[in-house]
Amino acid sequence: MRVLKFGGTSVGSAQRMKEVVELISDQHRKIVVLSAMAGTTNSLVEITNYLYKQDHDGATELIIQLEKKYENEVAALYKTNEYKKKGLQLIHSHFEYIKSFTKDMFTVFEEKAILAQGELISTAMFHYYLLENGKNSVLLPALDYMRINKNNEPDNAYVKENLNQILESYPETGIFITQGYICRNAFGEIDNLQRGGSDYSASLIGVACGAEEIQIWTDIDGMHNNDPRYVEGTHSIKELSFDEAAELAYFGAKILHPTSVLPAKLANVPVRLLNTLEPEAEGTLICSHQEKHRIAAIAAKDGITAIKIKSGRMLLAYGFLRKVFEIFESYKTPIDMITTSEVGVSVTIDDDCHLKEIVDDLKKFGTVDVDRDQVIVCVVGDLVAENNGYANKIFDAVKEIPIRMISYGGSNFNVSLLINATDKKVALNLLSQKLFN
Ligand code: ADP
Ligand code: ASP
Ligand code: MG
Repeated sequence: MRVLKFGGTSVGSAQRMKEVVELISDQHRKIVVLSAMAGTTNSLVEITNYLYKQDHDGATELIIQLEKKYENEVAALYKTNEYKKKGLQLIHSHFEYIKSFTKDMFTVFEEKAILAQGELISTAMFHYYLLENGKNSVLLPALDYMRINKNNEPDNAYVKENLNQILESYPETGIFITQGYICRNAFGEIDNLQRGGSDYSASLIGVACGAEEIQIWTDIDGMHNNDPRYVEGTHSIKELSFDEAAELAYFGAKILHPTSVLPAKLANVPVRLLNTLEPEAEGTLICSHQEKHRIAAIAAKDGITAIKIKSGRMLLAYGFLRKVFEIFESYKTPIDMITTSEVGVSVTIDDDCHLKEIVDDLKKFGTVDVDRDQVIVCVVGDLVAENNGYANKIFDAVKEIPIRMISYGGSNFNVSLLINATDKKVALNLLSQKLFN
């Protein structure tokens, strides 16, 4: 079995959907995981924002706009009247459902139900297209097998058991279509794996069904050696280890959802990043092999807040760090970077929902400084201590830029620097020039 995930751009129009069919028409048995059509989830988020504000007219206007877009896509996708009609019925039933939320109270439950519509529509439209073209396929509802637990972590045992049970009931089927991103939570309600989470779905599905390979098809030819949105002349990397890919995804390489590499790594399922717009390009293979003596890539994670706690007796007082970490834990706030000195500790977070409470609690231990609008720039590669010289190159590249924190040694694969958001673009470009030219 193979798992092929196609992102929003790859299914972003009727024409793109038709091109995807070409890519899934070989003889391999496969599960095709689809995102919502590009822009749809953003529009659905906007609609839910109106509904939270009880602005029903604003919401309705957006819903009608989006429905129109889908009517046009349906007209362009199917050739027969039979399927044009079926397609419209499909769209209208989803949009009637979305409109029903403009009449009642609106909570997070309704929000999640609306956000799920993008993937439900794209997969159903695509499935109809396959049927219209005589391709035998089965639509697997993700809500029947994809589930997270009370800690919002995937319930892997449940996913494995339920997915395989469904697959076994279709021994003759070669193509399964399913939704990325959406799932049920521990209470059986509709939920999701966070924005960009279709990659995570693909990885969880690949592991659950024992896939030989997980393919992530997107709008670029694999993982580039720097962020192509900020740096010109980046190029795709042929091969990355799971550890390198995980660091890059976590530290901002948007091509992969931050948590999508770990399940594949644990199960040792290779992940291939491929380009729908250029299917013959080699892309990037992510596997257990670690290429030696090279810097692979640079990424940056935005929206970071740095917190410094200065205490007279930090290192002498054992248990100090535990108490600091417990405060973050009690607010379910993950820490990204940490550095220590004799008189204090600095940490960074990207989820600042509970920043005020965290700072209030930390004040028990000393003075607390907060810096917002920071960015973590992360250099990833074979950076074991014996490969001396790389640190020097990295710091030389950014010598003109004020650095707030430095982290190295947490793994053998990354050096991270905390800088001001305003310096990000310059830092990424300087690092590219120094490390890759
Ligand atoms: P999809 O909708 O297919 O999931 P995304 O937009 O989530 O696609 O991810 C692909 C985008 O990730 C690319 O278009 C590119 O702009 C961005 N990106 C950021 N960093 C990198 C990188 N290091 N390598 C490749 N793409 C990257
Ligand atoms: N459609 C969802 C989003 O836009 C999930 C995904 O595309 O991965 O976030
Ligand atoms: Mg994505």
